[in-house]
Amino acid sequence: MSTDASTEQLIIIGSGPAGYTAAIYAARAGLSPLVLAGSVTAGGALMNTTEVENFPGFPGGVQGPELMDGLQEQAEKFGAQVKFDDVTDVTLTGHLKRVVTGAGDAYEAPAVILATGSAYKELGLPEEKKLSGHGVSWCATCDGFFFREQDIIVVGGGDSAMEEATFLTRFGKSVTVVVRKGELRASRIMAQRAKDNPKISFAWNSAITAIHGDSKVTGVTLTDTRTGETREQAATGIFVAIGHLPRTELVAGQVDLDDEGYIKVDSPTTVTNLTGVFACGDSVDHRYRQAITAAGTGCAAALDAERYLAALDDADSIATALVEEPTHA
Ligand code: NDP
Repeated sequence: MSTDASTEQLIIIGSGPAGYTAAIYAARAGLSPLVLAGSVTAGGALMNTTEVENFPGFPGGVQGPELMDGLQEQAEKFGAQVKFDDVTDVTLTGHLKRVVTGAGDAYEAPAVILATGSAYKELGLPEEKKLSGHGVSWCATCDGFFFREQDIIVVGGGDSAMEEATFLTRFGKSVTVVVRKGELRASRIMAQRAKDNPKISFAWNSAITAIHGDSKVTGVTLTDTRTGETREQAATGIFVAIGHLPRTELVAGQVDLDDEGYIKVDSPTTVTNLTGVFACGDSVDHRYRQAITAAGTGCAAALDAERYLAALDDADSIATALVEEPTHA
């Protein structure tokens, strides 16, 4: 390895609930972890959320950015070093792993925790970003509560869309599921549950081609995917549930990924196929995807890394002792 890099004990890539929780645990274990938090994406998905009402310990709710600031502060209090820099290159094989950032800095460490998260797939409409948090959402469990007695649209035909639609019937007056084909991709049981729900209706062979509203969503234009005919539909909430993309491009080709691009770990641990490389949070999890589950696996990753580093230290001490005090027959 080159000598231009600063050497750390542990590098954590990512700064969502998983990355910061890993940092809190690793810092309290005296590892002074380096957290490469990202520049624009620092804090992860919760930075784009308003009120988080389901994170345990906050009975009155907490703003997503406030929660992330608290996690950062807690990690730094115990000695984590947080740098708001993007990782652009990694070499994760070998004893010392090497990480290079967009600012041109290089770091090496015997252990790395990957906590790069996932991104919600977007429809790609210009109004989608503008009205995000003002009627457009990617998370029914986070935001459903704000749409009491309103007309809601859910986009997607997979299990996520069925789950979101069914959950949203607790709040909404009506839920319309917009499906681009004439059939669902969802599992039979989840599809049937949605179809049996009297509050849910389906707009088949339909794509949202425009979202309306200046400061809040007021409705959408639906385009028939077979004929191209358009029609307007009023709604004040749009939940996009068309899948997720794990943010794992950086490590693809080095760390084993599953068919959908999520990092494979030796469950229930956070151990990847590479020695000294651990993974946690949404870049591993396609099932639960909650802040609290990400935080839980972040904790596990720190404990796994700590044990790994302790075993390395023990091996080094034994090797040194053997060199210093050779045994004689
Ligand atoms: P999926 O990839 O399974 O489904 C995505 C859906 O969104 C498909 O219907 C797809 O349409 C549609 N879609 C994709 N892109 C667009 C677009 N640009 N515009 C409109 N529609 C689009 O993702 P999910 O998140 O639903 O599920 C991911 C995995 O997680 C699955 O394995 C699922 O089983 C699992 N899961 C399980 C749950 C459970 O068991 N409780 C809950 C949630 C997810 P098309 O079919 O035409 O490609």
